[in-house]
Amino acid sequence: MLDLATIRQDFPILQRKVNGKPLVYFDNAATSQTPKQVIETIVDYYSRYNANIHRGVHHLSQQATDAYEQARGKIQKHFNANKASEIIFTSGTTHSINLVANGFGALLEEGDEILVSAVEHHSNIVPWQMLCERTGAMLKVIPMTANGALDYEAYDGLCTEKTKLVFCNHISNALGTVNQIETLIEGAHKVGAAILIDGAQAAPHMQIDLRALDVDFYTVSAHKMCGPTGVGILYGKEAWLKKLPPYQGGGEMIAEVTFEKTTYADLPHKFEAGTPNICGGIAFGAAIDYLNALGMKEIADYEQELLVYATRALEGIADLKIYGTTAQKAAVVSFNVGDIHPYDIGSILDKLGVAVRTGHHCAQPIMNYFEIPGTVRASFAFYNTKEEIDVFVDALKRAIQMLS
Ligand SMILES: *Cc1c(COP(=O)(O)O)cnc(C)c1O
Repeated sequence: MLDLATIRQDFPILQRKVNGKPLVYFDNAATSQTPKQVIETIVDYYSRYNANIHRGVHHLSQQATDAYEQARGKIQKHFNANKASEIIFTSGTTHSINLVANGFGALLEEGDEILVSAVEHHSNIVPWQMLCERTGAMLKVIPMTANGALDYEAYDGLCTEKTKLVFCNHISNALGTVNQIETLIEGAHKVGAAILIDGAQAAPHMQIDLRALDVDFYTVSAHKMCGPTGVGILYGKEAWLKKLPPYQGGGEMIAEVTFEKTTYADLPHKFEAGTPNICGGIAFGAAIDYLNALGMKEIADYEQELLVYATRALEGIADLKIYGTTAQKAAVVSFNVGDIHPYDIGSILDKLGVAVRTGHHCAQPIMNYFEIPGTVRASFAFYNTKEEIDVFVDALKRAIQMLS
């Protein structure tokens, strides 16, 4: 059982008011809030041992290097990767995906196919379109069904010897659907394709075991799991990371440089050109410590409780339609009420102190599928409470009254 009173004390931002009302923060799928343990790690870094890493012989540089590499080790352990060198620090999921897409530019040929799921974030569609333009490969879409799941039978038919890469998110940010990635991974490997899973929404809410999943690439953003913005990881199996060419050129990523030829550093440094977000990486490690101290299982169980509670309350509201109704869902509720524009609902909720997301959630293809301009999305985290859901539902009822 989580101790909510103590947990909420860990998050300074949860004590503030917005528009004169206590903040109810239900936009966790966009970014999570930061506990003081992580904030203190950041302050400590800049107060005591801020220095560049991997090059200095001096004390501070060694201290910063040790802390940064320790964080990499924590991340490796948390996600159960084989080696720390399979964890590449990036600026986040978008960067991680672009790194892989860029690398596959050297491995694909005209006529090859890339499969992308219909439930993607824009950051997951555009890099593959750019890759196809560059290589002459073709992009094919794994279709979705009315409840927000993927059509796995159709996927089976789409996987052929032409398939070189499959891409899908683990959990859809717009609908909350937990995709059956084990099925996707098995299907891709059966035809010899690589598969990249975007874990931006999954990593904050469940225990991920990369070794058990046998996935080729997996991406995470720290800011969605209590860490700072501007840092994340790309996990890649060593064999794949060795096959991919470097993404950016610069310091840190080289072994030897002459004007005739440059040789690249070993993993993970081959993909980490330039001075990284040192403090961010260390703070990401602190965020992982924080989550593990609470327990990922406890977090997941409690968030499911919040999801059930909110879904039940919302289902009692006339003309309210929830999008994404699969049995396996993260704590995200995406909905519309009658033909009220989601933006109008969001604006009134904000006046009442409730932060939700409105719009297409960077997933226009999903909105097109449902023929709607967008939704109101409430997304919960382990520091939210049922009392906050009550406040939200009351505020929503007031908004509906004012708008209809
Ligand atoms: C947030 C999100 C992204 C983008 O992550 P960034 O941290 O902005 O790079 C990609 N995919 C999903 C599913 C997301 O939720």
